[in-house]
Amino acid sequence: MFEKIVIANRGEIGLRILRACNELGIKTVAVHSSADRDLIHVRLADESVCIGPAPSAESYLNIPALISAAEVTDAVAIHPGYGFLSENADFADRVEKSGFVFIGPRAETIRLMGDKIEAIKAMKAAGIPCIPGSDGPLGDDPKLNLEIARRIGFPVLIKAAGGGGGRGMRVVHSDAALANAIGMTRSEAGAAFGNDTVYMEKYLDNPRHIEIQVLADGEGRAVYLGERDCSMQRRHQKVIEEAPAPGITPQARQKIGELCVQACVETRYRGAGTFEFLYQDGEFYFIEMNTRLQVEHPVTEMITGIDIVREQIRIAAGLGLSFKQSDIEIRGHAIECRINAEDPRNFTPSPGTISQYHAPGGPGIRVDSHIYAGYRVPPYYDSMIGKLIAYGDDRETAMARMRMALTEMIIDGIKTNIPLHRDILNDAAFHAGGTNIHYLEKKLSQ
Ligand code: ADP
Repeated sequence: MFEKIVIANRGEIGLRILRACNELGIKTVAVHSSADRDLIHVRLADESVCIGPAPSAESYLNIPALISAAEVTDAVAIHPGYGFLSENADFADRVEKSGFVFIGPRAETIRLMGDKIEAIKAMKAAGIPCIPGSDGPLGDDPKLNLEIARRIGFPVLIKAAGGGGGRGMRVVHSDAALANAIGMTRSEAGAAFGNDTVYMEKYLDNPRHIEIQVLADGEGRAVYLGERDCSMQRRHQKVIEEAPAPGITPQARQKIGELCVQACVETRYRGAGTFEFLYQDGEFYFIEMNTRLQVEHPVTEMITGIDIVREQIRIAAGLGLSFKQSDIEIRGHAIECRINAEDPRNFTPSPGTISQYHAPGGPGIRVDSHIYAGYRVPPYYDSMIGKLIAYGDDRETAMARMRMALTEMIIDGIKTNIPLHRDILNDAAFHAGGTNIHYLEKKLSQ
């Protein structure tokens, strides 16, 4: 096992990784920007290194500073968490070439999955169901593009190969709008992602977002940990996640799970990963693979009893998986609410000092958060300040516990989206389960 790990992240995930290291007896190095000296995991870590000023570009995205933090502390491995450099193939490369272990997939895997066209090609070859589409980049011939769109059938979606964060896509409903939409998406993608390659796929009008969590040892052994439903989204950003996904049968889970495992085996995938699908009319359609730990990993941990961060670290240390597929049992139901420092009505960020804080508790309640009374939420980073997770024997119990926990939770001094979560937990359609990816936006616009 590693002796010392650099935690190349901040906030709740910094603390989550520190907790896993602690259990495994691994020493920790917390790196932080000058605005983050008061983070709880910075105080709890064995060592801490300031890697630059507040802006992420000069600190958490500063590759040379991160590598030298590992060098000066004699660390062995680097955990990137999620966001920041976690899906940056060049970072993974630089970490390994500098003699450290990157806790994640190989750089070439990250690079492949970062190009959506190449990722879809690889997944299709591995037998994963994909959305009907152009099967490659779109060219400049309007006649040819029109033929592709008619073959797929309107409405179609023009997507940037290098897109991310829900940006770089445009829906097209008719022949007349096609050429212009391709041109606009192309120039926007070029400016935003430095890559103007675009492709086309069928626009699904009523899908749910369902994703499969996998763990693989990089030597051709892999397991799936069931699915999560992340359909409650605003601007393509997840707000609530749950596991298992309502209405997915054990047979359907096993079928899609085994396909994902097969793809991991064929690509010799290493570490934790998530296959994201849209799910409509009983069919799964692959959209992308995330080659990192996800924000919503706790709901899977609650229903499987498996510590995903611990497994990531073990795999990176070459210790393999600590269980087989047949050891994995899905039990109960878990729901996660992302707690953001933002106005619950207009969603503008609400940084500032937390004057009072009371964390909820009781059976089945888990709080993954770095906040405390007196903590100042800095304005420089993502507005998520924690995750509230409720577990129960069934979905009904998990929802009841979540409702109570949202009532108990007190965060004063800043605005949070807790009122929005209370609304959703009392919503009849959410209660019934299986709402689609457009549901929350529609509810909010009413
Ligand atoms: P990103 O990398 O930007 O997150 P994704 O390909 O994962 O992009 O898509 C993000 C979201 O966009 C999905 O969760 C879904 O809400 C929507 N989306 C993507 N592709 C389609 C599609 N073909 N039809 C309908 N909605 C889509």
